[in-house]
Order: sequence, then C-alpha cells, then structure tokens
Amino acid sequence: MAEKMRAVRKVRPGPGLEITEIDIPRIKPNEVLVKVRATSICGTDVHIYKWDAWSQSRIKPPITIGHEFCGDVVEVGSEVRSLKVGDFISADSHIFDGTCHVCRNGQPHICQNLVIFGVDTNGSYAEYVAVPETSAWKNDPDLDPAIGSIQDPLGNAVYAVLCEPITGKSVAIFGDGPIGLFAIGVARASGASRIYHIGKYPARIAIGKQMGTDVAINVADGGVVERIMDDTHGLGVDVAIEMTGNQTAVDESLAVLRKGGRWVAFGIPSQPITIDLNKSVIFKGITIYGINGRQLWQSWMQMQGLFRAGFDPSPVITHRIKLDEFQKGFDLMTAADRQAAKIVMYP
Ligand SMILES: [Zn+2]
Ligand SMILES: [Zn+2]
Repeated sequence: MAEKMRAVRKVRPGPGLEITEIDIPRIKPNEVLVKVRATSICGTDVHIYKWDAWSQSRIKPPITIGHEFCGDVVEVGSEVRSLKVGDFISADSHIFDGTCHVCRNGQPHICQNLVIFGVDTNGSYAEYVAVPETSAWKNDPDLDPAIGSIQDPLGNAVYAVLCEPITGKSVAIFGDGPIGLFAIGVARASGASRIYHIGKYPARIAIGKQMGTDVAINVADGGVVERIMDDTHGLGVDVAIEMTGNQTAVDESLAVLRKGGRWVAFGIPSQPITIDLNKSVIFKGITIYGINGRQLWQSWMQMQGLFRAGFDPSPVITHRIKLDEFQKGFDLMTAADRQAAKIVMYP
C-alpha cells in the first residue's frame, strides 16, 4: 500500500478547499519527488477557492492545488540527469512540452501546449509533489524557504520590469497586488531613477514604500495623471507597468507614459478593454510588451542574481502559517482591507 500524505484539495466542484489524506505521488521516469518546505498562496488559488467562472471551466476536481513552492528532492526518476536527492528546488508553474513551434522558437513560457502546475496537475499544497525535471530550478542552499516559495510571482515581476533595461529610467507601477509590490523592489534594485506606485489599499501602498517607492499615489485621492505629469515636468515616465487589468489604470498608465516609452501589459482584464491606438500607441511611438509567466530561464537567473546582490523581497511576505491553517490564509487573502500580501504555508 502506498504511503499517505496530507494535501489541501478541491475535492468536488464548489467553493472552498479541504485537507485530506491521499497517496504520496508516484513519479514518472522524467520527474523528481519533492518534499515541500514552503508553498505560497496565489491569486489564482483564490479564484479556485472561490470557484469562480474561470475555475468552473478549467479545474477538474479532485485536485491538489498550489503552484508556488520550494522543497527538497527525495526521489529521482530513472531518466532524470540534472537533479539528485538532496537538491533544494523550486519549479516554474508553466510546464512546457519543449517540442512545439513556440518552444523551439525559444519561448517555452508560452508553449502552445502549456500545462499549468496545480491548475491542470496536482500541485504543491501537500507534503510531497511530483515535478518534471524540465520545470525544476535549483535554489541556492541557504535561500530562505519562504522566499524560495514566492519565486514564481516574483519572477513575473522580474520579467515585467526587466523585459528591457530599467537602469536610470523612471517607472510608474499600477497595482498593489503582490506582483506589483515585487515589481517596485525589482525596479529599485535594478537602478530605476524614480518609482511611482499607484494603488488603492493603504496597507499595500505601505509595503510598496518598504520596497522602494519614491512617489505613492492612492487612486482614492484622484489626480494620478496630473501628479505624475507635474513631477516629470510634463514629460511623463520612461516605463509604465500596468498590473491591474482595470480600464482606468490602463488609460492612466498610457497617459503618463512619455513619447517613445515602454508600456508593459501584465494585469488581466476580466473583459475586453479599449485603447486609443492612434493617440496612445501609434503617434506616441511606444513599445508594448505582453508579459505572461517568466522567461525560461533568464527571469530565474536574474532573480537569483538579485538575491545574491542582496535584494530582499520579504516585506511582501506578510504571513507565515502552517498548511493545516490554510483556511485562515484564504480568509486573510479575501479580507476587505488587504492587510495580507503574500502568505507562505509550511506543510
Ligand atoms: Zn501564482
Ligand atoms: Zn511547447
């Protein structure tokens, strides 16, 4: 009989999650078995927890969710060459096939046959998880497991901020979710000249300041465009990073971008939104980047390099709890005041 483990799962369609005992995963020849040290709660997990329209169309219960984690390799499949028992790893949640046209074009993070860890497969809200060798990333052995677990979202921020050089450039970051807060820190650590942060929750804006914001603007106070244009002497910022998916933020982030600047689209709108292509894009001569996932594996290398240089994303980690306390974590994530940013759980 297979050995058992605890796992937090979507057992059946409907809201909520349950902690249950299930078999420890049996690995395939191309996988490793990982004993999870830490796993963090993502907005995606909250969607699945709430069982919204997207989850209903995508998630096939029963499934163990969770895709942000780190842990130790305890078993290695027969075909695995680059990992050994004892390695401390994380994984990119975008599982790619490596063979499609897009992968072969060097863009596996947007593989045509992309499978998302903990969404389409059993994930990391468990004591053990099976990970394909090609998705694993070896961490520095002394990395704090809490930080080890948040590299998937931090890597989003690294990709969004560093898709082109940011050194010496002014940047406006719209959004105060954890990835927006990470983006502030990445921009600061990478030498951005002046960082504007536009958010709506005071607790989150305060974390943004710890991460390196120069000018914080709460949308409730209004005047976002005027304040940034005044502060840049009417020029606008070099880089605007849109991390809300909200129409007003899209409009304002384009309005504060200087001619010839860079606009980074990351926030996911819940329905189609509009952009004035003439005024905001063509005649302004801007460059637009669509950011999905992390560049494999450049974003991870940049992230590791930032850690080694002393970059500390830990102000964004507001809570550290046990996996058994997952309900408390989801209550915090859905609380109206958004006191929690990133919550790390320990199995
Ligand atoms: Zn995530
Ligand atoms: Zn592919």
